[in-house]
Amino acid sequence: MTKYVKEVLISREEIDQMCQRLGNQISHDYEGREVTLIGVLKGAYVFMADLARYLTIPCRVDFMSVSSYGSGTRSSGVVRITKDLDTDITGCDIIIVEDIVDSGLTLNHLRQLLGTRKPASIAICTAFDKPQRRKVNVKVEYIGLKIPDAFIVGYGLDYDGRYRNLPDVSILGDDGQGGSK
Ligand code: 5GP
Repeated sequence: MTKYVKEVLISREEIDQMCQRLGNQISHDYEGREVTLIGVLKGAYVFMADLARYLTIPCRVDFMSVSSYGSGTRSSGVVRITKDLDTDITGCDIIIVEDIVDSGLTLNHLRQLLGTRKPASIAICTAFDKPQRRKVNVKVEYIGLKIPDAFIVGYGLDYDGRYRNLPDVSILGDDGQGGSK
């Protein structure tokens, strides 16, 4: 069945306000320190770029790639690292930057894995959160916006590799529900 973008859930203006708020909060909490932002590819690439530009503290960036979804809309529960960090994070204040927390399996795994590399501290910052769908209790220090249980696309989030470039966040619907491509 073809998937269609059904309705805008979060506008680009709301997203910008969210990034500014998170950037201010992080800059305040880490004042006088340097943070290492670790973006979880591919979904977090847009959010990470916006968030980083709202930080007023020194920061470094690195990326990891994990795979937990195929081309469907539900988590397989399997988290596999497909690209590791380029840098050593020992002794660093790291913030894992994620697009969305759903079951929590991905971040739970990443938090544990990166913890074994002895950073000075670990925090998680996610743009979006679907708390109703949590399967594991993972601590998320910075949450942009809580959203209902719907599959969203845009602002870095994809369906089958598409829609990442949409500037707003939209709900994805099935063909025939009156949406537009
Ligand atoms: P979790 O491990 O928390 O179940 O899933 C996290 C990952 O699942 C996210 O990084 C994202 O790639 C994907 N995901 C979860 N919910 C959504 C959604 O509503 N839309 C999209 N495009 N991806 C999602």
